[in-house]
Amino acid sequence: MRLDDALPHLRERLLYLLSPKSQPARNTQIAAAEARAETRFRNLLEAAPDGILEVDQQGNITLLNQAAEKMFGYSRDELLGLKVEKLVPDSVRPQHHRHRDNYTSHPQVRPMGSGLQLKAQRKDGSLFPVEISLSPNMVDGEFHVIALIRDISERKQAEDHLRAVREQYTTELAAKNQELERRNREIEQANRLKSEFMASMSHELRTPLHTIIGFSELLTEEIEGPLNEKQKRFLGHILRDSSHLLELINEVLDLSKIESGRLALQFTSFNFSECVQEVLTGIQQRAIAKEIRIEQRAMYDGPLYADRLRVKESLYNLLSNAVKFTPDHGTVWIESSAHGGSLVITVGDTGVGIPSEEHANIFEKFYQVGNTTAGVREGTGLGLPITKQLVEMHGGHISVKSQPQQGSEFALTLPLQGPSTPPTVDEPQ
Ligand code: ADP
Repeated sequence: MRLDDALPHLRERLLYLLSPKSQPARNTQIAAAEARAETRFRNLLEAAPDGILEVDQQGNITLLNQAAEKMFGYSRDELLGLKVEKLVPDSVRPQHHRHRDNYTSHPQVRPMGSGLQLKAQRKDGSLFPVEISLSPNMVDGEFHVIALIRDISERKQAEDHLRAVREQYTTELAAKNQELERRNREIEQANRLKSEFMASMSHELRTPLHTIIGFSELLTEEIEGPLNEKQKRFLGHILRDSSHLLELINEVLDLSKIESGRLALQFTSFNFSECVQEVLTGIQQRAIAKEIRIEQRAMYDGPLYADRLRVKESLYNLLSNAVKFTPDHGTVWIESSAHGGSLVITVGDTGVGIPSEEHANIFEKFYQVGNTTAGVREGTGLGLPITKQLVEMHGGHISVKSQPQQGSEFALTLPLQGPSTPPTVDEPQ
């Protein structure tokens, strides 16, 4: 329909609506609309999960929803007209009307009793925790208050449970911490005792051993008279085993000193290649016995600032291992060179080699690779751990390259001028 055509029609309709004749019909339409709106609002009120109450200025309940009935255990009829104080715990009931008066004089939307743990009382007298929000509502010029009440029993329970669990956890943790501290003190004490024991035993063990070794050597020299073959063999056993025992005692002592921080390095400047010659002299006998060739390849011939004795000990450990784990007629070599501020020393052999998966283990205390040494098990399993610790105390490091049946190469890197930060030591050796 065009606008020109519609206008007369609309005019007629408007005149009808304005005429006194149409008044009752309009009223009916308005009433129906109001009833629909009322139903919608009532449904909304009833669907709310929180309890909703409206209270007049005298404290009488004037409106409520289903959730409020359920929450307090009263029927709708019982609640309508009931004093709101009946829903307040007995203990705070006498003061409640003052809070209401106070709210009437300062009406605003706000939570009730903020910061307090509010409780409400059911018809059967039982209490439950609640959160309440208040808002003023003017009805036909009269002051009312709408209270939105939320039952927070479940949330409280969950919070209480969480708190209890947390408290229990904290208590357990504190107890465990105490236990750990106690154990730590015990371990410290045990370590101290162990070090003291080691120190005192070192003398007691080594003195008789030196006597055994010394007199056995004297006997083998046959100055006091000739020995038969059997006696020589027996003496050989005594000498070999007591030397092994001495080596073991010395290594255990060294390690315990290092671990308890009681080993102090004595730094001096010395000629490195001279130090290598001394170590090789000590190895010579064993190499000759196995017809192993020892090669000195390129050798750094300058000064090194380090603990001479401990550098010798480290080289001795590597070279004696190389000889020990190389079959007869093999080759062992040593070479060294300076790079930047470091000295790199390599000790290699054509021996039994070490599988890759054992490379880290061999630096562990008392670890010996069972199957590569072809029956050679005369060591203590302490040489490499000690060497590693000594080298690291110097600010250097040790690494290994090896494969079974393809020999081994151990590389030591030492700073030529000593460690950049001096090693921490408690007392001199
Ligand atoms: P050990 O007193 O047994 O020589 P180490 O700590 O010096 O103790 O060495 C640990 C283990 O590492 C040795 O038992 C051996 O299995 C292996 N190992 C060390 N050096 C070599 C090498 N040059 N060739 C083959 N295996 C070696």
